[in-house]
Amino acid sequence: LIKINNLSKSFDEIKVLESLNMQVESGEVVAIIGASGSGKSTLVRCIAGLEPVSGGEILLHDTAVVNTASTNGKIGMVFQNFNLFPHYTVGKNITMPLKTILKMSDDLAIAKAKALLDKVHILDKFDQYPNNLSGGQKQRVAIARALALEPEIIIFDEPTSSLDPELAHEVFETISDLAKEGQTMLIVTHQINAIRRFATRIVFLNQGKIEVEGAPDYIFNQVDHPNLHQFLKQVD
Ligand code: ATP
Ligand code: MG
Repeated sequence: LIKINNLSKSFDEIKVLESLNMQVESGEVVAIIGASGSGKSTLVRCIAGLEPVSGGEILLHDTAVVNTASTNGKIGMVFQNFNLFPHYTVGKNITMPLKTILKMSDDLAIAKAKALLDKVHILDKFDQYPNNLSGGQKQRVAIARALALEPEIIIFDEPTSSLDPELAHEVFETISDLAKEGQTMLIVTHQINAIRRFATRIVFLNQGKIEVEGAPDYIFNQVDHPNLHQFLKQVD
């Protein structure tokens, strides 16, 4: 689905990502972990076409990602701070992209938005405004909105780091449900214990490079890697 060849990214003089190679296949749930400043957000922003690359290429089904238009709606993004429209109701936050981007009729868009909100267990919030929701509920609206456009992959950048543990848990439950359905996902998170249950692969980024990657069992129990062990000790 996604193939990254020799990706590098610099901001002015600062090299943030260096000759990075990575692939994501359909159905995989890949967690990206690493210290603050290691380049996690930069990597996923490049994949989503939100940030131009400095070298190498990112292919989405053999098409180079150069901006958000080139992802053609196939990549959905969920951010730490929800990025909902505060002056729209929950329902309208989801129907709007359906109507403007997919040109769906009012009735169809409303039916689809309701089905998605039901799926993330907040159908009763359809007519509420985002400010009246808890952080966990807001994030589930953001997930429903990302799902609305039926992306082939959803990228999460620290979806729970502004939430209390209890609310983070409910968001991870939603993400875990999507994993069970086979939704391809790329998840940047510091909450390693929450994702080890359902991630198919964990990628450890250190100073803009993939230092080690593998199945959760390999990362947590088998691999002998000093930088990774140091990092895991700090986050747990
Ligand atoms: P965190 O866990 O804190 O979110 P991260 O792994 O997501 O960290 P990035 O946000 O990708 O890290 O940042 C990696 C490096 O790139 C940092 O040194 C950061 O200062 C730098 N950087 C990121 N965005 C920009 C930008 N727009 N302009 C200049 N430097 C940037
Ligand atoms: Mg980040």
